[in-house]
Amino acid sequence: MGDDGTGGAPVEIDADIADAIEGHKRFREDFLRDRAFFEALATAKQKPRLLWIGCSDSRVVPAQITGADPGELFEIRNIANSVPPANSFDDSVGAAIEYAVLHLGVDDIVVCGHTGCGGVAALVEGDSVGETSHLSRWIDLTRPAHALIKAAGVTGPARLDETAKAHVQFQIDNLMTYGIVREGVERGSIGVHGWLYDMREGRLLAYDPDDGQWRDLLSLGS
Ligand SMILES: [Zn+2]
Repeated sequence: MGDDGTGGAPVEIDADIADAIEGHKRFREDFLRDRAFFEALATAKQKPRLLWIGCSDSRVVPAQITGADPGELFEIRNIANSVPPANSFDDSVGAAIEYAVLHLGVDDIVVCGHTGCGGVAALVEGDSVGETSHLSRWIDLTRPAHALIKAAGVTGPARLDETAKAHVQFQIDNLMTYGIVREGVERGSIGVHGWLYDMREGRLLAYDPDDGQWRDLLSLGS
């Protein structure tokens, strides 16, 4: 039989993996067609233009909604696009922020929430995940936004999407607890942007800290 590199365990190809194999086959065709582009990516140091902090949600695809090519977005994706404050329980987000800013020289940071976010809804729906689970500790990061929107008396269908917006604003506050971000913003060398992807309309909204309004991102373009 010989060593097939699988440790002897049979590799099971179910429909989901078969789909990924088919998809990779199509990607290989693109890769070979654009070989020079991919070779340049592989040989040069990455130089992304944005640090994107977004939700893990499979329906919100950063490169798709910003038209970014490989090499253009340095991504942190987690449940509900959260930024734990510096010196909290998590090092993953802080490590990626430091790497992006200090080593890659990224000078724009986008925190992007989205409508219909399950991570934001979790606290309302009281999903039973156990008090001490990783998930409940993480979801707790959305609590300040829920408290704010509840205090503002927002109810009904608008409540969750308004909470998703408030959560983005709180994550921007949390970004400022990282010294390298705060100092960069104060120096004017780093821009921090709060966005929300409206899945039903397929459009990005941008938060304006000057007047607290959310506007269509396209209205900011030239
Ligand atoms: Zn989400």
